[in-house]
Amino acid sequence: MSLSDTTEIHQFACLDDNFGVLIHDRESGTTVAVDVPDAAAYEAVLAETGWKLSHILITHHHWDHVQGLGELKTKTGAVVIGPERSRQKISELDRTVEDGDDVLCGPYEVKAIATPGHTLDQISWYIPSIKVAHTGDTLFALGCGRVFEGDKEMMWASLSHLMHRLPDDTTIYCGHEYTEANAKFAVTIEPGNEALQARAKEIADIRALGKPTLPTTMAAEKATNPFLRAGEASVADALGMAGQPAEAVFAEIRTRKDNA
Ligand SMILES: [Zn+2]
Repeated sequence: MSLSDTTEIHQFACLDDNFGVLIHDRESGTTVAVDVPDAAAYEAVLAETGWKLSHILITHHHWDHVQGLGELKTKTGAVVIGPERSRQKISELDRTVEDGDDVLCGPYEVKAIATPGHTLDQISWYIPSIKVAHTGDTLFALGCGRVFEGDKEMMWASLSHLMHRLPDDTTIYCGHEYTEANAKFAVTIEPGNEALQARAKEIADIRALGKPTLPTTMAAEKATNPFLRAGEASVADALGMAGQPAEAVFAEIRTRKDNA
């Protein structure tokens, strides 16, 4: 049986708009958490599923991603793996990674992809064997993270890296449920994108039911996420920036979103 057949993934809401994610392999009993916005939310899901937490992967140092880490680590004894750049900021780290490192979590070979911009330490986690990635606060559904510690050029480079690195059929989880607001903004950038218009309607319906819009896929993001589409001539044209380089178009889109 392949790892995809024995894997179950549980995504749940934490805090106001954060996500908790648990990746579980039935065969080995391995259970991997990505970020811990809220220990109690994780404990509730672990109790409900009976899964025993073995590993915690951290995407970046922001409080809403590590707030529950100390408590969850103490209660479960899970091994905590996160960015080397945050070794000083996150005291619970047992192991740190840099760009290109591989870590083994039970049967899962997990690749660390450095995607700085939102923060300098940001790591996106990718598990090729099950075609799953977690992009933290770098890539969101129809959006990207605000650029706090890096600069816009750095963020564009990180998003470009993800586009090249993650196959179109990769299932993507991320840190926040921001999709509805992102969709409203995205249609102002590319009103003529029919796939985007259809997705925006779908998202409004999903949110009206109170359901999550994540995970997404790389294919869906490439087709509809304006931040990934900064290199498309149609997007540059729509912004009156024909012929300008993708990073300049990206910077303009990011600035407009910051001011929206
Ligand atoms: Zn953040």
